[in-house]
Amino acid sequence: MVSGLVFDIQRCALHDGPGIRSVAFLKGCPLRCLWCCNPESQSAERQLFYHSGKCLSCFGCVGVCPAGALRAGTEGVEIDFGLCVSCGKCGKICPAGAIGLYGYEMTAEEVVVEFERDAGYYASSGGGITLSGGEPLMQAEFASEILMLSKKKGWHTAVETCGTVPAVSLSTALPFADLFLLDFKLSDRELFKEYAGGDYGMMMNFLEVLAASGKEIILRTVFVPGVNDTSNHAEAVAALCRKYPCIAAVNVMPLHDYGKTKYTDIGRPVPEIYGNLPNEGQVDRWLSLLREAGIENVKKG
Ligand code: SF4
Ligand code: SF4
Repeated sequence: MVSGLVFDIQRCALHDGPGIRSVAFLKGCPLRCLWCCNPESQSAERQLFYHSGKCLSCFGCVGVCPAGALRAGTEGVEIDFGLCVSCGKCGKICPAGAIGLYGYEMTAEEVVVEFERDAGYYASSGGGITLSGGEPLMQAEFASEILMLSKKKGWHTAVETCGTVPAVSLSTALPFADLFLLDFKLSDRELFKEYAGGDYGMMMNFLEVLAASGKEIILRTVFVPGVNDTSNHAEAVAALCRKYPCIAAVNVMPLHDYGKTKYTDIGRPVPEIYGNLPNEGQVDRWLSLLREAGIENVKKG
């Protein structure tokens, strides 16, 4: 049995492919985007969280921590995240679910059993299942097994990917995926390195291999004012649509800060870039620019 690390499974999702979907979020990502809305996804290991708003200040967790990472403070638990050894003991004892670890091991079969609960919706809505993250193809064998088992059930399968993984990881999943939601954040090699921490060449190679397979692709482009709202970027997105007919649509994802508190929960500062969220007018202008560049099937979200 193939197993992997999952950090969430969401049911009845409406924005991760067509119809009503179940989405499994797999842990680990090769990128470090400055605007990441799922910072708990980035580490490929289990990772400590603390929701201070839920804490009852009983300090049971402090007593069980073998690493001395937790201290009783005047406003709840004080944490040295660097000392945590991810043993999970605090989460087991906490009566409020205020502390614990992001990431739990599941077999591919167990994930599919979870998906099965909403199978009726897949059929009635034209939906299916989606693997997201993090980068699901960082756990390529696990992801492929989930996709294969899902295809056996007759479900539509989608993979949300940053494309910054070796093409061999894509090859394992390719036969069992119907749709790829590919993030295309920046079209400049240096900016991609600076803002996303990624290898642009690897992503373009991934896209080349993916497009050669003929699988349906939806490009997802995060919109970050002052970073990627340039005519060069719009032209680059349009050029990809012309070059690869299997790109069925472009979805614009305006920068948001819904994941802000997650940074605090895992002991990281809130990204400064969240101080520059786009307004509706800016999003509309960006959509217009993309349409003027020749992209017909482009929409928000
Ligand atoms: S066990 Fe839970 S509720 Fe109690 S102090 Fe620790 S985090 Fe807070
Ligand atoms: S996971 Fe273990 S080491 Fe980390 S804070 Fe909790 S009890 Fe301490």
